[in-house]
Amino acid sequence: MTPAPNATAECGICGRHLPVRRLADCAAVRPGLAAALEAEHPDWQRSGFVCLDELARARRRSIEQMLLRERGELTDLDRAVVNSLAQGGTVSHDVEADFVEDRSLGDRVADRVARFGGSWAFIIAFCAVLAVWMAFNLLAVTAEQFDPYPFILLNLVLSSVAALQAPIIMMSQRRQEEKDRARSENDYRINLKAELEIRHLHEKLDHLLMRQWERLTEIQQVQLELMEDIANAREQQ
Ligand SMILES: [Zn+2]
Repeated sequence: MTPAPNATAECGICGRHLPVRRLADCAAVRPGLAAALEAEHPDWQRSGFVCLDELARARRRSIEQMLLRERGELTDLDRAVVNSLAQGGTVSHDVEADFVEDRSLGDRVADRVARFGGSWAFIIAFCAVLAVWMAFNLLAVTAEQFDPYPFILLNLVLSSVAALQAPIIMMSQRRQEEKDRARSENDYRINLKAELEIRHLHEKLDHLLMRQWERLTEIQQVQLELMEDIANAREQQ
């Protein structure tokens, strides 16, 4: 019989009286979770109702123990996934957006300079400046030459550019590495959560199928009994 929507019942574990929609029927709790609940509360009778809070806690503990068995220890990432499973939240972040938002002015300049320094536009512009500089100092009248052959000032400018460019590129690369790491952590979290959810779904499906099967055999039994009753009644007529 289905209880009325506003009916309350007692949780078999914590003893609170709660609306039925916040409780689960013990028969519907899959065996793995039921075993976890029983291990935690040895005096629990597997009958009546269990509140969803207790179920969520048991589920979280069983996932934690499973991960501990498989890996020996839990990392912060594993914990984040377990928490999100318990709370029903999502674990994925938009890594790209997070990084774009967090950029300081220095980071933005470093990114721009690194991007420009690694482009054909930079190489062509640089060659053009070199060619103009050398051509002017070779071909102009001696009095106008500001850096005559062998272009000592040009050497100084070039080594300054190289000295500045290297750390700027390294800055940008370090940020890129951080972004890659955040992205792979994000992927790991999503994959682990998907794996756990799929495993959980499998268990639920198996449990549902088993219960369905038990119900079917029960119904068949009842039908057989009914048919026997009808046959007996006919014989007696
Ligand atoms: Zn409870």
